[in-house]
Parts: sequence; structure tokens; C-alpha cells
Amino acid sequence: MPIREKIRPAVREIVGHLVANGFETYIVGGAVRDLLMDLTPKDYDIATAATPEDVRRVFGRRRSRIIGRRFRLVHVYAGSEIYEVSTFRRAPSEDERREHHDDDGVMIWRDNEYGTLEQDAERRDLTVNALYYDPVGGRGIIDMVGGVRDLEERRARAIGVAATRLEEDPVRMLRALKLVGQFDFHLDEDLEAALRARVDRIGLASQNRLFEELLKILATSRSLAVLEAFEAYGLLPHYWPKLASIWSTPVGERTRRLLAERDRCVATGGYSTSKALALATACLPYVISRLGGPSADDLWEHDPARDSGCRQVIQDFFHPFPVSRFFQARVRDMILLLPRLSQRLRLTRLARHPEYKYGRELYTLLGRVCDWPEERLEGCPQPDAAESAPTGPRPRRRGRRAPRKAGREVA
Ligand code: ATP
Ligand code: MG
Repeated sequence: MPIREKIRPAVREIVGHLVANGFETYIVGGAVRDLLMDLTPKDYDIATAATPEDVRRVFGRRRSRIIGRRFRLVHVYAGSEIYEVSTFRRAPSEDERREHHDDDGVMIWRDNEYGTLEQDAERRDLTVNALYYDPVGGRGIIDMVGGVRDLEERRARAIGVAATRLEEDPVRMLRALKLVGQFDFHLDEDLEAALRARVDRIGLASQNRLFEELLKILATSRSLAVLEAFEAYGLLPHYWPKLASIWSTPVGERTRRLLAERDRCVATGGYSTSKALALATACLPYVISRLGGPSADDLWEHDPARDSGCRQVIQDFFHPFPVSRFFQARVRDMILLLPRLSQRLRLTRLARHPEYKYGRELYTLLGRVCDWPEERLEGCPQPDAAESAPTGPRPRRRGRRAPRKAGREVA
């Protein structure tokens, strides 16, 4: 199918609307990269000559909202989805960086200087992420940095001097290795040398951004491959010290097996796309090793005293990521369902627990990895049956569901 037809109609509509109002606008970034690899993009980034205020005027107050500080952009709503529209930018000069922060003028803390299309391409991280696509006019793919060839050869290459680009923003190391894990890319020579020499700088990036990236990695069906790439290139101890410290131990090996199985299920659509479930899956073997026994299926006896330590163990595992209390509580609740499921403790009541659906998925996943006999999995009621149970407390409300986001999370 030609690229143009694979693009979501809402994206064409948004781009078309901006172009009709006189603003040069394209699809850019991961979506173009994915389309060229014949994959379905999970989100779209839209880049435009319009300033955030212009975008706001074009779509009106009801369909758009300006967000972000480090990177100001506009959320444009299309039905239940959100698309991120960002203005063409140029890299800030050294002086402009100094004004923002009294450091050595190398790191980029804000990225809000508007520029031309060419400048916008130059300030992006990797050549394969700097391809533009015109879905409404006749320009097709616009490649100013040799990204198409790099994509064909599955090569991650920095735009400009690799060492400088990684020093400006250490998150770029992680982004390059994501391509290695997710799509079997290799790093070009300069990028590899620069990255290996700077892995310890990853901690200079904001932990919020690093955690956002972790959530994105855990949402893919290649989470293990990405973490393996981090490990292979020496980034893991600096990015996620606890995981690195257990990587080669039996607990680490179990964590990898669980992630591999989870990835397989995600790829076939057989695993829920909950962020809290993804976090619970990643930390489960570690939690079992601390609260239960030495082997993977050594779930502890349901015991309120022991359960109370669960949250601390989860915090230890994810340190130093800023996992919110909300996520910590959900991850804990899911995990604490496992010993109860295993002991068949009041299953009908358990099935009404707000996290039952995910706790059951986690339990089933663990069972598959540990080769449990079918009987151990049988008897856990289907979550749907539980939802339609006529009696019992109502599930806790978690606030209104936010519209589905179809753009990027953080710059
Ligand atoms: P995916 O969304 O599949 O994880 P992506 O490349 O689209 O991958 P986003 O976070 O959505 O990642 O970013 C969109 C685009 O913004 C990127 O393709 C890249 O061009 C640019 N970009 C993102 N992060 C950086 C960065 N740290 N430095 C420079 N450019 C960046
Ligand atoms: Mg994207």
C-alpha cells in the first residue's frame, strides 16, 4: 500500500488544514521512519512553520492546547485522539543555552528557538528520525540528511558531530540504542565510539525523561531486545543500576525470560497495554526473590506483614526512576494478588479487585514461564465474568479516561 494511504485520515486532515492556512507542514520523525519500514506507526509527529499560537488560531481553543516548557508544542484533538504539532526549530546557540542555565553551555535544557525546515532537520537526533513526509502536496519524502539510505542499511547515525550531539542531550544515546533493540539497527562507527565513551553521562538527563523512555520501551514488543542493547553497549548500569546489578544472576535471568514471554504476547496482541502491568512484569522476579523463596514460582504465603514490604522492594528495583505513588500502588496491588491467586483464596471476591484483570494476566504469564501445570491456572475466573458480578464493592474510580494520545510524550 502506498505510504499516503497508510496514514491516518486525522493526520492528513490536520496537516491539510495547516497547509490551507499557509503554513508549510509535514509528518516527521518515528512515523515516517516506521512507514518506510512498512510498519504501522504508533504515533505521529507533525512539524510545521506555524508557531504554537498560529496552530491555536487555526484549530481554535476547543481543538487545541499549548503544552510543554522544555519543548513547547500544541496538542490538537481529533475525536478521541491527540496529535502533537511542533513548530520547526533550530538548535539554540551556545550563548542562548548559557542564558537558560548557568552550566557549561553544552547541555540543551530548552529547545524553543523557532527556525526553518532545514534547521529543524539539523537539530534532530538521528538521520533516520529526520525524514519528513508531505501527505497532502506532491513532495513525498523529504530527506536532507541522508536518512533514507541509513534506514535502508539499518544504520543509526547522528546528525552532526556524534560526541557533541550526545553531550547536548544524553537521552539521544538511549534513543539510538532503542533502534538497535527494536529494529536491529547498528550504530555507525562515530556514534558507537562517542556513545561508548559517554554512557556514564546518561544520569545527567532529567529522570522524568528517562522514566518516560522506560515506559515507552516497556510498551513495545521488543522491550527485552532494547534492554539487551543497553547492556551490550554498557549503558544499563548507568541507566538502570538495579537491573544491571542482577542482570547475570538467576533473578536477572528470570526477569529476562518473563520479559521475553511478555514481548511475545504483546506482539500477538495477547497482553494488555497497561503501563502499570508492564512495570509489574519487569519487577516481578525481583519482588519474588525478596519476599518469597529462591525460585521463580516460590510465591510467598499471603501475609499482611510481608505484603507491607512490597512497595519498598518495588521502589528499590526502579530506583532512581521517579515512579509515582500512584503507579507504585498499582504495581504492588497487582503483585500482591499473585500469592492469593496461587492459594485460591476467596477467588470470587478476589475477582472483584480493581487490578484483578492485570493480576491474573501476570499470574498466567508467570505460570507459562515456570511451566506450571494447567490445574494451577484453572479456576481463576475470567475478568469479564468478574466485571458483571451482580454484587460486591464497585471498583475504585481512577478518574476520567484521558483521550488516547497519538503523538509524542516528551520532547
Ligand atoms: P517513537 O515515537 O517510535 O518512540 P520517535 O523517533 O518518533 O520514536 P519521539 O519521542 O516521538 O520518538 O520523537 C519524535 C521526533 O523528535 C524524533 O523522531 C526526532 O526527530 C525528534 N527527537 C526526539 N527526541 C529528540 C532528542 N532528544 N534530540 C533531538 N531530536 C529528538
Ligand atoms: Mg514518535
